Amino acid sequence: MTQHNASAAPKYRAYTLNNIHTTPQFENLTAGQREALETVGRVLPFKTNGYVVDELINWDNIPDDPMFVLTFPQRDMLRDEHYRQMREALQHGEHSAEVEQTVQHIRGQLNPHPAGQMEHNVPEIYGQKLTGLQHKYRETVLFFPSNGQTCHAYCSFCFRWPQFVGDDAMKFAMRETSLLVDYLREHPEVTDVLITGGDPMIMSARNLKQYIEPLIEADLPNLQNIRIGTKSLSYWPYRYTTDKDAHEVLALFRRVKDSGIHLAIMGHFNHPVELETPAVEEAIERVLETGAQIRTQSPVMRNINDDPEVWAEMWRRQVSLGMIPYYMFVARDTGAQHYFSVPLVRAWDIYRNAIKQVTGIARTVRGPSMSTDPGKVQVLGAADVGGKQVLALSFLQGRNPDWVNRPFFAAYDEQATWLSDLRPAFGEEEFFYEPELRQMFEDDKRREGELALV
Ligand SMILES: *Cc1c(COP(=O)(O)O)cnc(C)c1O
Ligand code: SF4
Repeated sequence: MTQHNASAAPKYRAYTLNNIHTTPQFENLTAGQREALETVGRVLPFKTNGYVVDELINWDNIPDDPMFVLTFPQRDMLRDEHYRQMREALQHGEHSAEVEQTVQHIRGQLNPHPAGQMEHNVPEIYGQKLTGLQHKYRETVLFFPSNGQTCHAYCSFCFRWPQFVGDDAMKFAMRETSLLVDYLREHPEVTDVLITGGDPMIMSARNLKQYIEPLIEADLPNLQNIRIGTKSLSYWPYRYTTDKDAHEVLALFRRVKDSGIHLAIMGHFNHPVELETPAVEEAIERVLETGAQIRTQSPVMRNINDDPEVWAEMWRRQVSLGMIPYYMFVARDTGAQHYFSVPLVRAWDIYRNAIKQVTGIARTVRGPSMSTDPGKVQVLGAADVGGKQVLALSFLQGRNPDWVNRPFFAAYDEQATWLSDLRPAFGEEEFFYEPELRQMFEDDKRREGELALV
């Protein structure tokens, strides 16, 4: 076991636009890069920390370094027009109302809640909306604890940024678990609670307990798995090693396991560099010692990891550290999508060329997968069917579970970056699930209307 840093406890220090200039590495940025950071960082939230800056970013490799691109907003993440508007506003004064208006205007055009997340998946109990929950796929409820709505650093591609930037209308989170427990009692079909954010592991052990212990104590016969979606292993591995309450966090994990509930850490890793430090090795080992498992996921993104060798390396390394590769996502249709997006055909090519070179035990990863309104849609690949070029698709998760694993076909399109760009392959009016999906949304709307009348 690595004993590195066992005595010296690194102290978490966040860097934002206000204090990033105090890091020695800031000297490495050209004037142009500083301007870009100060401009784009107004619109996309910017936050990094000492560990990311000192241990993950290779400062000899900027501006192309994947870890640099991952946490430092770049010039081209805003379209030219938006960048110009932002520059102009800033020239009229950093704190002017114009700056604030321009930020809001640009953000409004970046579609903060894709895939119908807000409108369609908020469950109800006692005639009341549970805004801190999402229930889209039968087995799994997402839970957004109100204390977990930030992260140890921000990913520049992240679609969750409205939650971080204090726009109350766009926030959805829950203060406690008791309504969740009630909901789980009324929904025996739910086996999984996925605690997500932001990053739930930003919370103190005390806060985490306040959410997780009631779930254990409720002794729900249907609750089999608690999952925690987190990037902390990558951005702040000391959460599990030298932080003051690290042992309390690990003890809580053990308690989940001892209660007979499986604990799955859904670890977010974008690049093999995140798996190289002694700190992350030790953190992974500590988490696994509690009996929890770690499953890994990441989007595929241009300028960060759009390379089969990077993915193959990442999966090999994950497996050798004892983790289970789980999902490869297609970057969502939001934020700086023009900067990060990879065409579906290319994403499939990366997946295929990565997976064919790794051991079978690393081929547990599924993808590339789009999280869309009807469900998680996997690109199975390009094929020739009766002389016609098509893309084969399949649901990994469906709003209707019966849609899962029924291959369907879209006309081949090399440029398409999302399901909405695709058309059925054989002259059909629409894909097989579309009439039913429409019906579901209409039913939702009617129910909404009735609720409002009560
Ligand atoms: C991905 C996702 C889940 C979890 O799906 P699994 O395939 O079980 O990992 C649950 N809810 C939503 C809304 C999701 O997007
Ligand atoms: S850690 Fe997760 S929630 Fe936080 S910025 Fe990155 S992707 Fe978004």
